[in-house]
Amino acid sequence: MCSYASQGVIETAAAAGGAVRRAQSLRKALAPPQLLRWLSSLLLLAVLTAPGLLGCCRDLVTGESFFCLGELSVAEEVELGAAVAPSFLAQSGGRYPDLDLGAYLREIVVTKLAPRTHRPELPWSFDIVNSSQPNAFALPGGKVFITRGLLARLETEGQFAHLMGHELGHICHRHALRGQGRSALFDLLLGIIIIGTAERQVLQTGPDDPLLVTSTAGAIGNLAFLPFDRGQELESDQRGIDYALAAGYDPREGRKTFEMFLRIKREAGQRETVFDELFNTHPLDERRIDEIDDYIAERHPAIAAGQRHELIASRPEFENQIGRLRQADEVYARLDTARALIGDARKRKNQSPLDSAEEILRGCARDLPQHARFPVALAVVAMERKNPADALRHLDRACALDPQLFEARFFRGVVYRETMKWDSAREELLAAHELFPMSPFPSFLLGEVCERLEDPAEAAKWYRAAIDVAPAGSEVERRARARLRDLRHAA
Ligand SMILES: [Zn+2]
Repeated sequence: MCSYASQGVIETAAAAGGAVRRAQSLRKALAPPQLLRWLSSLLLLAVLTAPGLLGCCRDLVTGESFFCLGELSVAEEVELGAAVAPSFLAQSGGRYPDLDLGAYLREIVVTKLAPRTHRPELPWSFDIVNSSQPNAFALPGGKVFITRGLLARLETEGQFAHLMGHELGHICHRHALRGQGRSALFDLLLGIIIIGTAERQVLQTGPDDPLLVTSTAGAIGNLAFLPFDRGQELESDQRGIDYALAAGYDPREGRKTFEMFLRIKREAGQRETVFDELFNTHPLDERRIDEIDDYIAERHPAIAAGQRHELIASRPEFENQIGRLRQADEVYARLDTARALIGDARKRKNQSPLDSAEEILRGCARDLPQHARFPVALAVVAMERKNPADALRHLDRACALDPQLFEARFFRGVVYRETMKWDSAREELLAAHELFPMSPFPSFLLGEVCERLEDPAEAAKWYRAAIDVAPAGSEVERRARARLRDLRHAA
């Protein structure tokens, strides 16, 4: 039997169910922009669609049935996660470029933990997101992420295993699909709206402002959250204990993460911190730590009594790897300072802070020569000084280091456009669009570039694509509509 809480929930779930059914029939033809347009329509559909399309999903840990979006199959769950993941990565700073560390941690998540979960058959994946904001995420279908900012604050491998076990737990319980106030797609939609809010800062000045667009793609950009309720968090804490233990880790390490959060929260008091977003979405209190202790004491008294000496708390290799990341995290803190200086130079219309910004960034690039985000920021400084040749030099370096980094490809497209190298601009903006299909900016600029290349049909196609994903009423949407109108008049 499915059970549900309130009328509002039913309406939302029913509407989303209808949308899923419609999308199912369209699915094969759906390219990312259309998929997004469909996701964005869900809120509206929540009001318009009649009930009767409710689905029943099963919690794959407990076997219990619950209301969800029109019988979302496992394949669709996987597809949904896969559709959102590239935009999610692109808007939160891209993949953290330490392949050794990524491989070491991926081995823990995908090889040790995931096969011991309740859904070993899922196509599990793990990535480190290059964001200073401390957080960890699970997208439906088996995609798990942790940020550089959170990794830098972890002390032990056992802590990491519990934290990732917790995220795997959300996916195994299919928490994101629960119709308890928010359906899975509704949650994802919220994520998109959050992205929209961050992009709104860009829209004040327009889509051709490279500094704001690239900073939104990085430090300022909010990450997409799936807000879970307290019961779901506690349930996932327990799965974190089960899975970490099954993989040979001491589950008592798990409490250290919450102790660290509480310590930071107390120290921060009322001050704004990078943790605020996390605390808003993951309510914390001492009880959560107590519940971890209670669960271990009840189920595993020998562990609680410290008698299971074979269990791993941490390994020297983890300490090495994280030590390197911690040093890098400090370099990235200087990047944030440099960005603030660039912002300051713009606001005061005074170029002198750019000198300090450039000096800081050159230092960062010396300390982490393999990291592409520093040359991108140096290119921003060069463009502030109206020096596109210099900017391109930095961007060529950034793109060579990390061709998958959205901010590098996008900004190179912007600079080519500024210098009227239309073919190169089109190539770079296409690459940027593929890396971040939910962003309206590459599409809008592709429209402009195609007009210059005297291909109005292609230009119209890109303006329409920008409108599909732009937040309603935004500047970029308005401008794309205006260009489309002009194109129609000219025809
Ligand atoms: Zn959680």
